[in-house]
Amino acid sequence: MIILDGKGLSAKLKDELKCEMNSYKKTPILAVITIGNNDASKIYVNNKKKACEEVGMSFLHFRFKEEDKEEKIIKKIKELNKDENINGIILQLPIPDKFDKYKIINTIDSSKDVDGLTIESQGKLFNNVDTLIPCTPKGIMEIFKYYKIDLESKHVVIIGRSNLVSKPLYIECLKKNATVTVCHSKTKDLSIYTKQADILIVAVGKKYLIDKTMVKKGCIIIDVGISREDKKIYGDVNPNVESVCSMLTPVPGGVGPMTVAMLLRNTFDAYKKQNGVVSISELNVIK
Ligand code: NAP
Repeated sequence: MIILDGKGLSAKLKDELKCEMNSYKKTPILAVITIGNNDASKIYVNNKKKACEEVGMSFLHFRFKEEDKEEKIIKKIKELNKDENINGIILQLPIPDKFDKYKIINTIDSSKDVDGLTIESQGKLFNNVDTLIPCTPKGIMEIFKYYKIDLESKHVVIIGRSNLVSKPLYIECLKKNATVTVCHSKTKDLSIYTKQADILIVAVGKKYLIDKTMVKKGCIIIDVGISREDKKIYGDVNPNVESVCSMLTPVPGGVGPMTVAMLLRNTFDAYKKQNGVVSISELNVIK
């Protein structure tokens, strides 16, 4: 059984990015917007900040209070959209229910939408137009690439149907000529589908939803889920699958670090695109 080491791979990709960025004169800037005081978000934002520091990318944090007016946040995003120094903008989710999440996200200019969540970015993805792909699906595709996991003609079963993870993954897997099945909370008898999977991707957020009785021998499993219990992190997949599957992403240390690495990659790609760069030498001309 092979552990798909997202932590190690993300470190390698961050090193490569750092080297690439070193040859550019300007430093890319990522702007992160938070609203309220979500404890998990604090950890995620801190991880993103640390990752930016590791590669030498600038990180700006704009904090809003739960009592703030939506217009105030929208106004800030519009300013950031116009600011040529800002290359990527993300809204850290979840945000308090009183806010219109979609309205706020869709204020982000698609050229700076490094989470790939605006309707414009997702429409482009759906239509095979070059765009910024959401970081988690992009990170999973990088794992497939690095470990030479060929998706062509494989049956990929995805559990979950979110815009953040599962729907973009569905598109990406189709692009690689997989046959893709998507399951969700209303799917009857999940195991009928999971047992057919050559590659099983679970993005639900329910501790140990999948166990060894639900997967076929030799299956490759990507565990996206994160649940917190007594300050520990658990995935959606019970570690007992190790006796059955051929490859598995651990939690923590699998998909999570890849997501952060892809956020940096998206920000750098956005920066290059905004500056019209096709080659390193061209960006070095920029003042
Ligand atoms: P989400 O929007 O909450 O979606 C969860 C999905 O799971 C929904 O489509 C839901 O179905 C489905 N679901 C819920 N209970 C189910 C069940 N018993 N059987 C089958 N499907 C079920 O979540 P998300 O944003 O996609 O994230 C999913 C998980 O991944 C969360 O734990 C999140 O924390 C984690 N995550 C991890 C990373 C990372 O970097 N590792 C990144 C993003 C997210 P319905 O649509 O029918 O409700």
